[in-house]
Amino acid sequence: MNVAELRADFPALQQKVHGRPLVYLDNAATTHKPKVVLDALDKFYREDNSNVHRGVHTLSQRATESYEGARAKIAQFLGAEANEIVFVRGATEGINLVANAFLRPQLHKGDEVLITAMEHHANIVPWQLACEATGAKLRVAPMSQTGELLLDELETLLTPRTKLLALTHVSNALGTVNPIAQITEMAHARGIPVLVDGAQAVQHLSVNVCELGVDFYALSGHKLYGPTGIGVLWGRSAHLEGMAPWQGGGDMIRSVTFEKTEFAPPPLRFEAGTPNIAGAIGLGAAVEYLAGIGLDAIVAHERELLTAATDAVAAIEGVRLIGTADAKASVLSFVVEGVHPHDIGTVLDRYGVAVRTGHHCAQPVMAFYGVPATVRASFGLYNYHAEIVPLCKALREAQELFA
Ligand code: PMP
Repeated sequence: MNVAELRADFPALQQKVHGRPLVYLDNAATTHKPKVVLDALDKFYREDNSNVHRGVHTLSQRATESYEGARAKIAQFLGAEANEIVFVRGATEGINLVANAFLRPQLHKGDEVLITAMEHHANIVPWQLACEATGAKLRVAPMSQTGELLLDELETLLTPRTKLLALTHVSNALGTVNPIAQITEMAHARGIPVLVDGAQAVQHLSVNVCELGVDFYALSGHKLYGPTGIGVLWGRSAHLEGMAPWQGGGDMIRSVTFEKTEFAPPPLRFEAGTPNIAGAIGLGAAVEYLAGIGLDAIVAHERELLTAATDAVAAIEGVRLIGTADAKASVLSFVVEGVHPHDIGTVLDRYGVAVRTGHHCAQPVMAFYGVPATVRASFGLYNYHAEIVPLCKALREAQELFA
């Protein structure tokens, strides 16, 4: 994998910030977009712009073909069937869809929903809302100080009361990669369905939803080098077929009278209204681009980079790493003694280094480690070793300024 060549595919990376080359290490928040994605968006609006599934005219047919073609590309990327791919706004909406259309109708007082201690708010709040509305209870599987799930304890929390296990594949705050296939086996042995939040996984690991064995898998296009406002919920056909719609409107029906509506089969049943057509097409282009590079090459490159960056940052005096699991992807989270993460972020920005500082929408994780916030550098396929130098240099300067 030639990173220097690949970087040329990303126009946004070619700019300077405060007079220095941009070092973009905020990929867990969102990734930059390669030209093929920008071109796909541009082509759609310039040439094919039309609504899908409705028109017999040429442009509408072209738009429909591209939209459904994108669904097929994403299905292939995930090792799934196209009719199991529901287009949503992002991981957040995918999780809310399952909470409302799958879980809520079967959730009763006394039931339990199990999540883990390292979830993003998007994989906490929808379950909390479902529990509050039904009298069910939210249970939380604990993790160790290294940021690894305690599997024995998780297993004891899988009981006849558990109606769903929802957990992240990769933690956005810690970088931990969870052993999803193993955990899913434990849940399935007790008949408990599993939803996986894949927002931080699909861009860093080779994901095959069938091999993982899970029931639902949610992801966001914008973290996968695709556009914002588009994401995917993958669900097993048997589940999707059995689910009533969440939102009603056009495009999700077979027939409507004032007395009764017959719903379309999945996935359209869950895509009420005009979808984000351009977004879906852009995401199709993104996964094709990634498949062209090869996920295995991306995984190897990012692993090497994360190890080197972790060693370099950990060598700076006063740095405390947050999240030191054996299996990690992309994320290097840390605090620096005596310096607030926001101050570090501001100094880093002056060096053109973009990192995220804050609680990363994972306040329970921050509470667990007793910190209000961390500095998070997160790597993507276009980052390279030379970028670790300005990161460390700026960190040392921040220490001198503030400590
Ligand atoms: N889950 C995880 C682990 C995330 O990192 C994020 C985004 N930070 C989300 C869910 C939510 O993604 P989105 O805001 O794109 O819906």
